[in-house]
Amino acid sequence: MVLADRVCKNFGALQVLKGVSIEVQPGEVACLIGPSGSGKSTFLRCVNHLEKVNAGRLEVDGELIGYRERGGRLYELSPREAARQRRDIGMVFQHFNLFPHRTALENIIEAPVLVGGKSKSEATERALDLLSQVGLRAKADAYPAQLSGGQQQRVAIARALAMDPKLMLFDEPTSALDPELVGDVLAVMRTLAAEGMTMVVVTHEMGFAREVADQLVFMDGGVVVERGDPRELLSNPQQARTQEFLSKLL
Ligand code: ADP
Ligand code: MG
Repeated sequence: MVLADRVCKNFGALQVLKGVSIEVQPGEVACLIGPSGSGKSTFLRCVNHLEKVNAGRLEVDGELIGYRERGGRLYELSPREAARQRRDIGMVFQHFNLFPHRTALENIIEAPVLVGGKSKSEATERALDLLSQVGLRAKADAYPAQLSGGQQQRVAIARALAMDPKLMLFDEPTSALDPELVGDVLAVMRTLAAEGMTMVVVTHEMGFAREVADQLVFMDGGVVVERGDPRELLSNPQQARTQEFLSKLL
């Protein structure tokens, strides 16, 4: 579903991704960890067409979205093709990013109606199902400000799911939440994973990573330092940088 081969990304002179190689199979959950500034968000943003790679090769769902060999020409998707593929990718951010002047329900039906070509009644029916799935059927008419952070994040997940994505990207989905609200959001993500959704999750929730992830990827300084089975990697990291990072978390 995601194939990154020596992906590089720079912002002007700042080299942020320095050859990231990651593979995520359909149905797999990959958790991405690493210190702040290591390029985790930038990588997700490249996968979601919010940034363009400068070099290397990036494929999503079997489609080449960016490619350049050393010194060669850059290949990238046209804006139209990128927009089409983005519809199949759901992304959930740390700060929910719900529309403040729309209810939970209105937030969820927006894209299916405007971009997905669904009728309002069809989109509403599906949105109510999704709200039930995330445990918020009773909050359909609430505005974001009337919801807790955890509830807002669950609405954001439902909103991403409303486009029936093939791939879900989560960028620190629980980092902005009070500790007591984290569990409900993780529970929704666990269920999604169990249902076979392909997920790439940037997180500091090591319990979630250990139990749910099929692979754990440790990034530092714009490269993948180590990746593998989460239990093995957490209990027996091979690289000094991984050991140091994990020891600070515990
Ligand atoms: P992480 O998510 O691992 O904390 P990021 O991918 O957000 O790391 O950022 C990696 C580096 O790239 C940081 O030094 C950050 O300041 C820089 N960066 C990210 N986005 C931009 C941008 N749009 N312009 C310039 N620098 C950026
Ligand atoms: Mg980040």
